Amino acid sequence: MSPKMVKADVVIVGGGPAGSAAAIQCARSGLQVSMVEQAAFPRHRPGETLHPGIEPLLDQLGVAQPVLSAGFLRHRGHWVQWSGDRRFVPFGEDATGPWMGFQAWRSEFDQRLLQQARVLGVKVWQPCRAIRPIVESNQVAGVFTSAGPLYANFVIDAAGSRHWLARQLGLSIDSRSPRLVAHYGYAEGSCSERDQAPAIVADTHGWTWTARVQPRLYQWTRLLLTPTKLAPDFLPPEFHALIPQPKRHKANVTWRMANNLAGPGYFLIGDAATVLDPASSHGVLKALMSGIMAGHLIAQRLRHNRSRHSVTQGYCQWVCDWFNHDVNKLKVLYHDLPNPPIWV
Ligand SMILES: Cc1cc2nc3c(=O)[nH]c(=O)nc-3n(C[C@H](O)[C@H](O)[C@H](O)COP(=O)(O)OP(=O)(O)OC[C@H]3O[C@@H](n4cnc5c(N)ncnc54)[C@H](O)[C@@H]3O)c2cc1C
Repeated sequence: MSPKMVKADVVIVGGGPAGSAAAIQCARSGLQVSMVEQAAFPRHRPGETLHPGIEPLLDQLGVAQPVLSAGFLRHRGHWVQWSGDRRFVPFGEDATGPWMGFQAWRSEFDQRLLQQARVLGVKVWQPCRAIRPIVESNQVAGVFTSAGPLYANFVIDAAGSRHWLARQLGLSIDSRSPRLVAHYGYAEGSCSERDQAPAIVADTHGWTWTARVQPRLYQWTRLLLTPTKLAPDFLPPEFHALIPQPKRHKANVTWRMANNLAGPGYFLIGDAATVLDPASSHGVLKALMSGIMAGHLIAQRLRHNRSRHSVTQGYCQWVCDWFNHDVNKLKVLYHDLPNPPIWV
């Protein structure tokens, strides 16, 4: 079927964790959902370390089993060396035993979530790129895509940290930190020091995160908090005996939030709504939570006639509150560094 024929309840742009969570939530509420994803899967994404608190969300989305059966590495906590000695910080435990986080290989994780959306009847256009929103009578009414126009009552932007819809609609994006860039890369081999748990280690210029992400594959992430440059041959000390993959990556992780996170005919979710640097370590969790919440509120609007104002304002307030909460937590964390950046 050509997209020209489609009028859905909801069109979602982006098939990462935020988009898939929103799609599943909407489909479960009986809404007709189309999604456009520009990349053919599997595609690479960073962000593998997931807090155990993600499990109830996976359960709610009906993907706990597919994710658990993927055999991702699990760990009980992580090593932290911030302003003093290195110490192990466990996630916690209850009567059933210790809580376990995941090292979820993102291409596999994202594919499993998207598959669940497909099973529930979500029409996925892939690879298909959203080009610009269709705006009629001051309301977002659909999306022009590389395959044609798609019309919908609501458009959800889940296209990630480039803030596709916010930029298209001219919404401002508020930064709450100076420009921060996370550099990351991979190294192959064996590093027994990192096999049990990831580690975050601070120094005078920033911090370095290291983790085993697959058998014989390790990831490092380096965030500089001072105006220094990353050495082209940078590798964390514990990876010196490993073989670095030649390709390095970087991402803009400036703390920021789009203004007007929901409005007439649209919602912004996941990184499209807010971005924090990876020390907050909850990017994927927040992507799932915001997707579920947006999906729930859209169903309230379309199925139960809840007022447009209450669903959009409720969403904006909810995201704003936890973003401010997380910004304050990060500031406290960075205050504890041996040389806290002056901007915190
Ligand atoms: C170096 C680094 C390390 C990180 N580590 C962690 C971590 O350990 N744990 C954690 O929880 N989080 C981590 N994060 C954050 C995490 O990666 C993000 O928060 C998460 O990926 C956000 O999910 P999302 O679904 O909003 O966006 P994304 O995962 O970016 O998905 C967006 C999707 O939209 C698609 N898309 C984009 N534009 C278009 C378009 N125009 N048309 C159609 N499709 C489009 C993209 O192809 C992509 O599939 C890290 C981030 C970085 C940069």
